[in-house]
Amino acid sequence: MTARGSAADPGPSPAAAAGARSVAATAQVLESASIRRAAAETPRARARRFAAETPLGRTRRARRINRVLADTYPDARTDLDFTTPLELLVATVLSAQCTDARVNLVTPALFARYRDAADYARADRGELEALIVSTGFFRAKAAALTGLGAALVDRHGGAVPADLDALVALPGVGRKTANVVLGDAFSIPGLTIDTHVGRLVRRWGWTTAEDPVRVETEVAALLPRAEWTLFSHRAIWHGRRCCTARKPACERCPLVGDCPSAVL
Ligand code: SF4
Repeated sequence: MTARGSAADPGPSPAAAAGARSVAATAQVLESASIRRAAAETPRARARRFAAETPLGRTRRARRINRVLADTYPDARTDLDFTTPLELLVATVLSAQCTDARVNLVTPALFARYRDAADYARADRGELEALIVSTGFFRAKAAALTGLGAALVDRHGGAVPADLDALVALPGVGRKTANVVLGDAFSIPGLTIDTHVGRLVRRWGWTTAEDPVRVETEVAALLPRAEWTLFSHRAIWHGRRCCTARKPACERCPLVGDCPSAVL
Protein backbone atom coordinates (compact mmCIF):
# COMPACT_ATOMS: atom_id res chain seq x y z
CA MET A 1 0.00 0.00 0.00
CA THR A 2 1.21 3.51 -0.61
CA ALA A 3 0.39 6.91 0.77
CA ARG A 4 1.91 9.46 -1.52
CA GLY A 5 1.88 13.12 -2.32
CA SER A 6 2.23 14.21 1.29
CA ALA A 7 4.08 17.44 2.03
CA ALA A 8 5.84 15.57 4.83
CA ASP A 9 7.35 13.09 2.37
CA PRO A 10 11.12 13.58 2.73
CA GLY A 11 11.76 12.17 -0.79
CA PRO A 12 14.51 9.74 -1.71
CA SER A 13 17.66 9.56 0.42
CA PRO A 14 20.97 10.69 -1.20
CA ALA A 15 21.97 7.00 -1.55
CA ALA A 16 18.64 6.11 -3.20
CA ALA A 17 18.93 9.12 -5.51
CA ALA A 18 22.45 8.05 -6.50
CA GLY A 19 21.11 4.52 -7.11
CA ALA A 20 18.32 5.88 -9.29
CA ARG A 21 20.85 7.97 -11.26
CA SER A 22 23.02 4.91 -11.88
CA VAL A 23 19.94 2.90 -12.99
CA ALA A 24 19.02 5.73 -15.33
CA ALA A 25 22.57 5.74 -16.71
CA THR A 26 22.41 1.96 -17.25
CA ALA A 27 19.08 2.35 -19.03
CA GLN A 28 20.61 5.01 -21.24
CA VAL A 29 23.49 2.73 -22.22
CA LEU A 30 21.06 -0.13 -22.89
CA GLU A 31 18.89 2.20 -24.90
CA SER A 32 21.65 3.48 -27.17
CA ALA A 33 23.16 -0.01 -27.70
CA SER A 34 19.77 -1.45 -28.57
CA ILE A 35 18.95 1.40 -30.95
CA ARG A 36 22.35 1.05 -32.67
CA ARG A 37 21.88 -2.71 -33.13
CA ALA A 38 18.37 -2.25 -34.49
CA ALA A 39 19.43 0.49 -36.89
CA ALA A 40 22.13 -1.77 -38.35
CA GLU A 41 19.56 -4.45 -39.28
CA THR A 42 17.62 -4.22 -42.55
CA PRO A 43 13.80 -4.19 -42.29
CA ARG A 44 13.68 -7.52 -44.15
CA ALA A 45 16.15 -9.13 -41.74
CA ARG A 46 14.13 -7.83 -38.79
CA ALA A 47 10.89 -9.20 -40.24
CA ARG A 48 12.57 -12.60 -40.82
CA ARG A 49 13.94 -12.65 -37.27
CA PHE A 50 10.56 -12.09 -35.66
CA ALA A 51 8.73 -14.43 -38.09
CA ALA A 52 11.13 -17.26 -37.18
CA GLU A 53 10.71 -16.75 -33.43
CA THR A 54 9.90 -19.89 -31.43
CA PRO A 55 7.55 -19.88 -28.41
CA LEU A 56 10.62 -20.13 -26.15
CA GLY A 57 12.26 -17.25 -28.02
CA ARG A 58 9.13 -15.16 -27.51
CA THR A 59 9.08 -15.91 -23.78
CA ARG A 60 12.74 -14.92 -23.50
CA ARG A 61 12.11 -11.73 -25.48
CA ALA A 62 9.10 -10.87 -23.28
CA ARG A 63 11.20 -11.27 -20.14
CA ARG A 64 13.99 -9.19 -21.69
CA ILE A 65 11.50 -6.43 -22.47
CA ASN A 66 10.25 -6.55 -18.88
CA ARG A 67 13.84 -6.27 -17.57
CA VAL A 68 14.59 -3.27 -19.78
CA LEU A 69 11.34 -1.63 -18.66
CA ALA A 70 12.35 -2.28 -15.03
CA ASP A 71 15.69 -0.53 -15.63
CA THR A 72 14.03 2.32 -17.49
CA TYR A 73 11.18 2.92 -15.01
CA PRO A 74 12.53 1.88 -11.59
CA ASP A 75 9.84 3.97 -9.83
CA ALA A 76 6.86 2.68 -11.83
CA ARG A 77 3.76 2.41 -9.61
CA THR A 78 0.15 3.51 -9.60
CA ASP A 79 -0.29 7.26 -9.92
CA LEU A 80 -3.39 7.17 -7.72
CA ASP A 81 -3.00 8.30 -4.09
CA PHE A 82 -4.47 5.96 -1.45
CA THR A 83 -3.80 4.52 1.99
CA THR A 84 -6.34 1.65 2.21
CA PRO A 85 -7.83 -0.93 -0.21
CA LEU A 86 -11.18 0.92 -0.05
CA GLU A 87 -9.52 4.21 -1.01
CA LEU A 88 -7.80 2.56 -3.97
CA LEU A 89 -11.04 0.92 -5.07
CA VAL A 90 -12.86 4.26 -4.92
CA ALA A 91 -10.02 6.11 -6.69
CA THR A 92 -9.95 3.49 -9.44
CA VAL A 93 -13.70 3.82 -10.00
CA LEU A 94 -13.25 7.61 -10.26
CA SER A 95 -10.33 7.24 -12.70
CA ALA A 96 -12.58 5.94 -15.49
CA GLN A 97 -12.45 8.53 -18.32
CA CYS A 98 -10.42 10.83 -16.04
CA THR A 99 -6.74 11.46 -15.37
CA ASP A 100 -5.14 10.12 -12.20
CA ALA A 101 -3.92 13.66 -11.40
CA ARG A 102 -7.51 14.94 -11.44
CA VAL A 103 -8.66 12.05 -9.23
CA ASN A 104 -5.87 12.86 -6.76
CA LEU A 105 -7.19 16.42 -6.45
CA VAL A 106 -10.64 15.15 -5.49
CA THR A 107 -9.89 12.23 -3.20
CA PRO A 108 -8.45 14.00 -0.11
CA ALA A 109 -11.79 15.68 0.65
CA LEU A 110 -13.74 12.58 -0.42
CA PHE A 111 -11.73 10.21 1.78
CA ALA A 112 -12.04 12.62 4.72
CA ARG A 113 -15.84 12.71 4.34
CA TYR A 114 -16.42 8.98 3.65
CA ARG A 115 -14.22 6.83 5.84
CA ASP A 116 -15.68 3.36 5.33
CA ALA A 117 -17.95 1.35 3.04
CA ALA A 118 -21.02 2.12 5.18
CA ASP A 119 -20.39 5.87 4.71
CA TYR A 120 -20.59 5.40 0.92
CA ALA A 121 -23.66 3.15 1.24
CA ARG A 122 -25.64 5.81 3.10
CA ALA A 123 -24.14 8.85 1.33
CA ASP A 124 -26.39 11.69 0.31
CA ARG A 125 -26.27 11.43 -3.47
CA GLY A 126 -26.19 15.20 -4.10
CA GLU A 127 -23.36 15.76 -1.62
CA LEU A 128 -21.34 12.86 -3.05
CA GLU A 129 -21.88 14.07 -6.63
CA ALA A 130 -20.70 17.57 -5.68
CA LEU A 131 -17.44 16.18 -4.29
CA ILE A 132 -16.61 14.18 -7.43
CA VAL A 133 -18.14 16.38 -10.12
CA SER A 134 -14.79 17.35 -11.67
CA THR A 135 -13.91 13.71 -12.46
CA GLY A 136 -16.68 13.56 -15.09
CA PHE A 137 -19.65 11.17 -15.34
CA PHE A 138 -20.25 12.15 -11.74
CA ARG A 139 -23.84 10.89 -11.52
CA ALA A 140 -22.91 7.40 -12.71
CA LYS A 141 -19.80 7.38 -10.51
CA ALA A 142 -21.76 8.49 -7.43
CA ALA A 143 -24.31 5.73 -8.08
CA ALA A 144 -21.45 3.24 -8.50
CA LEU A 145 -19.84 4.29 -5.21
CA THR A 146 -23.05 4.04 -3.17
CA GLY A 147 -23.80 0.63 -4.76
CA LEU A 148 -20.27 -0.49 -4.09
CA GLY A 149 -20.45 0.63 -0.44
CA ALA A 150 -23.75 -1.23 0.05
CA ALA A 151 -22.40 -4.42 -1.57
CA LEU A 152 -19.26 -4.34 0.57
CA VAL A 153 -21.35 -3.95 3.73
CA ASP A 154 -23.85 -6.67 2.72
CA ARG A 155 -21.40 -9.26 1.40
CA HIS A 156 -18.08 -8.61 3.12
CA GLY A 157 -18.84 -6.88 6.41
CA GLY A 158 -17.60 -3.59 4.93
CA ALA A 159 -14.15 -4.93 3.98
CA VAL A 160 -12.70 -5.01 0.47
CA PRO A 161 -12.17 -8.68 -0.44
CA ALA A 162 -8.66 -9.73 -1.50
CA ASP A 163 -10.02 -12.09 -4.12
CA LEU A 164 -10.49 -11.62 -7.86
CA ASP A 165 -13.84 -13.42 -8.14
CA ALA A 166 -15.29 -11.57 -5.13
CA LEU A 167 -14.04 -8.22 -6.46
CA VAL A 168 -15.44 -8.62 -9.98
CA ALA A 169 -18.80 -9.65 -8.46
CA LEU A 170 -19.08 -6.16 -6.91
CA PRO A 171 -21.15 -3.61 -8.85
CA GLY A 172 -19.06 -1.43 -11.16
CA VAL A 173 -15.85 -3.44 -10.61
CA GLY A 174 -14.35 -4.99 -13.73
CA ARG A 175 -11.34 -7.24 -14.06
CA LYS A 176 -9.02 -4.28 -14.66
CA THR A 177 -10.06 -2.51 -11.44
CA ALA A 178 -9.93 -5.78 -9.51
CA ASN A 179 -6.36 -6.47 -10.64
CA VAL A 180 -5.28 -2.94 -9.72
CA VAL A 181 -6.67 -3.40 -6.20
CA LEU A 182 -5.20 -6.89 -5.80
CA GLY A 183 -1.76 -5.83 -6.99
CA ASP A 184 -1.41 -2.44 -5.34
CA ALA A 185 -3.48 -2.76 -2.15
CA PHE A 186 -2.93 -6.44 -1.32
CA SER A 187 0.38 -7.25 -3.06
CA ILE A 188 -1.33 -10.15 -4.86
CA PRO A 189 0.12 -10.27 -8.40
CA GLY A 190 -2.34 -8.99 -10.98
CA LEU A 191 -2.07 -8.01 -14.65
CA THR A 192 -3.87 -4.79 -15.49
CA ILE A 193 -4.78 -4.83 -19.16
CA ASP A 194 -5.75 -1.24 -19.86
CA THR A 195 -5.64 0.55 -23.19
CA HIS A 196 -1.85 1.16 -22.93
CA VAL A 197 -0.89 -2.38 -21.96
CA GLY A 198 -3.15 -3.91 -24.62
CA ARG A 199 -1.67 -1.68 -27.33
CA LEU A 200 1.93 -2.34 -26.29
CA VAL A 201 1.73 -6.12 -26.00
CA ARG A 202 0.16 -6.27 -29.47
CA ARG A 203 2.94 -4.05 -30.84
CA TRP A 204 5.48 -6.38 -29.22
CA GLY A 205 3.82 -9.37 -30.90
CA TRP A 206 3.05 -11.06 -27.59
CA THR A 207 -0.57 -11.51 -28.66
CA THR A 208 -2.93 -10.61 -31.48
CA ALA A 209 -5.99 -10.72 -29.21
CA GLU A 210 -8.17 -7.65 -28.63
CA ASP A 211 -10.25 -9.15 -25.85
CA PRO A 212 -8.64 -8.02 -22.53
CA VAL A 213 -9.24 -11.37 -20.80
CA ARG A 214 -7.49 -13.25 -23.61
CA VAL A 215 -4.68 -10.70 -23.60
CA GLU A 216 -4.31 -11.16 -19.84
CA THR A 217 -4.12 -14.94 -20.19
CA GLU A 218 -1.50 -14.77 -22.95
CA VAL A 219 0.66 -12.19 -21.17
CA ALA A 220 0.39 -14.17 -17.92
CA ALA A 221 1.90 -17.18 -19.71
CA LEU A 222 4.95 -15.15 -20.76
CA LEU A 223 5.98 -13.49 -17.48
CA PRO A 224 6.69 -14.78 -13.97
CA ARG A 225 3.66 -14.29 -11.72
CA ALA A 226 5.67 -12.22 -9.25
CA GLU A 227 6.31 -9.65 -12.01
CA TRP A 228 2.70 -9.14 -13.10
CA THR A 229 1.85 -6.06 -11.02
CA LEU A 230 5.07 -4.14 -11.64
CA PHE A 231 5.12 -5.14 -15.31
CA SER A 232 1.64 -3.58 -15.66
CA HIS A 233 2.84 -0.29 -14.16
CA ARG A 234 6.01 -0.25 -16.26
CA ALA A 235 4.06 -0.89 -19.47
CA ILE A 236 1.51 1.81 -18.60
CA TRP A 237 4.36 4.29 -17.97
CA HIS A 238 6.03 3.31 -21.26
CA GLY A 239 2.71 3.68 -23.10
CA ARG A 240 2.24 7.16 -21.66
CA ARG A 241 5.81 8.38 -22.01
CA CYS A 242 7.20 6.75 -25.16
CA CYS A 243 5.01 4.26 -27.04
CA THR A 244 1.94 6.45 -27.29
CA ALA A 245 -1.11 5.49 -29.36
CA ARG A 246 -0.69 8.26 -31.92
CA LYS A 247 3.07 8.58 -32.30
CA PRO A 248 5.39 5.94 -30.83
CA ALA A 249 8.86 7.44 -30.24
CA CYS A 250 10.80 4.46 -31.64
CA GLU A 251 13.89 6.61 -32.25
CA ARG A 252 14.46 6.90 -28.49
CA CYS A 253 12.82 3.66 -27.30
CA PRO A 254 15.04 1.24 -25.31
CA LEU A 255 12.97 -1.70 -26.62
CA VAL A 256 13.61 -1.06 -30.27
CA GLY A 257 15.79 -4.15 -30.80
CA ASP A 258 13.11 -6.43 -29.38
CA CYS A 259 10.05 -4.79 -30.91
CA PRO A 260 8.63 -6.07 -34.21
CA SER A 261 6.64 -2.83 -34.64
CA ALA A 262 9.66 -0.50 -34.36
CA VAL A 263 9.89 2.12 -37.10
CA LEU A 264 13.37 3.59 -37.53
S1 SF4 B 1 6.58 0.58 -31.34
FE1 SF4 B 1 8.41 1.86 -31.13
S2 SF4 B 1 8.07 3.03 -29.23
FE2 SF4 B 1 6.66 1.29 -29.20
S3 SF4 B 1 7.76 -0.30 -28.06
FE3 SF4 B 1 8.15 -0.64 -30.26
S4 SF4 B 1 10.08 0.45 -30.62
FE4 SF4 B 1 9.26 1.19 -28.69
